[in-house]
Amino acid sequence: MKILVVEDERRLANSIADLLRTNGMEVDVAYDGNAGYAYASSGIYDLLILDVMLPYQSGFEVTSRLRSERNGVPILILTAKGDTAERIAGLDAGADYYLTKPFDTGELLACVRALLRRQGEQVNVLEFGNTTLDLSTCILSRGDEQVRLSTREFDIMRILMSAQHRNVAKEAVLTKVWGYDSNADENHVEVYVSFLRKKLAVIHSNIRIVAIRRQGYHLETAEE
Ligand code: CA
Repeated sequence: MKILVVEDERRLANSIADLLRTNGMEVDVAYDGNAGYAYASSGIYDLLILDVMLPYQSGFEVTSRLRSERNGVPILILTAKGDTAERIAGLDAGADYYLTKPFDTGELLACVRALLRRQGEQVNVLEFGNTTLDLSTCILSRGDEQVRLSTREFDIMRILMSAQHRNVAKEAVLTKVWGYDSNADENHVEVYVSFLRKKLAVIHSNIRIVAIRRQGYHLETAEE
């Protein structure tokens, strides 16, 4: 599970990140609203933990921008103590849950687990154009035609289908699929994307994986 923490108080941000890592999660940290929004737009996170008062754009702004782009990532908002107005504004903006600062670590972990669980239950099949991806079987289908994806192909397709029309950076794909420590480079991503394009053609899918130089990939349908 990969989590993004957006919090400008560096000590708090880093202690939350440490806590989550100790509990087996992968964590990235952003220290302002612009960076947080940019990271979150990559579509690679399973959960966002967002502070409200952030430089450049608030946690609410980040939330509503993501939601307006149909990014359904679960969002946990960290609000100031006892501020009911903030809490309501956060939920209105599209956050899933809020936690009041200061919180204890057990409470934070419980919220994180609950939100990740809920996410897991909600989505079993991703859909784009005339094609679906079954997350439990790794099978890509278009009508009656089906093809099974390899692990790497599946990981990449899942990221692209979660992002829909939004662009996903090649680096983001590389990190999410191969991890930080591997020797894989962006050529690996390109190779697997070419495998995916062949499999999409085999089942006569109308999905096109569009590559934009120096920006990455996004999906379109053949009609677009
Ligand atoms: Ca803050």
